Amino acid sequence: MAGYKQPCRKCDNFIPPDSNVCPVCGKRDPITVRCPRCRNPIDGNWQKCNCCGLPLFINCPKCGNKTFFDDCCQYCDSPLLVACPNPKCRLEQPPIGSKCIKCGKPL
Ligand SMILES: [Zn+2]
Ligand SMILES: [Zn+2]
Ligand SMILES: [Zn+2]
Ligand SMILES: [Zn+2]
Repeated sequence: MAGYKQPCRKCDNFIPPDSNVCPVCGKRDPITVRCPRCRNPIDGNWQKCNCCGLPLFINCPKCGNKTFFDDCCQYCDSPLLVACPNPKCRLEQPPIGSKCIKCGKPL
């Protein structure tokens, strides 16, 4: 497959298949879907990561629809990230666990 360009999942532009970020729209993991926690490649219809067990469908914090755990909600396109409430941290991260992955403060 090396050398053949493949369409980005978000913008459908053809990009190199080993891209970690789409050079056109900036989407992370533009071709292969990866677990947000362990980076294991996953299939779009899996309910859980087969490596770390992370549930791959979450309720969008904005519209409430059950969406695939991706950068953005499939329905309203809002980013599926929460900011750490710690004013010294403020790290934006996927809502994987109940605590900030950096400082450990409850989200
Ligand atoms: Zn793209
Ligand atoms: Zn995983
Ligand atoms: Zn949404
Ligand atoms: Zn934090």
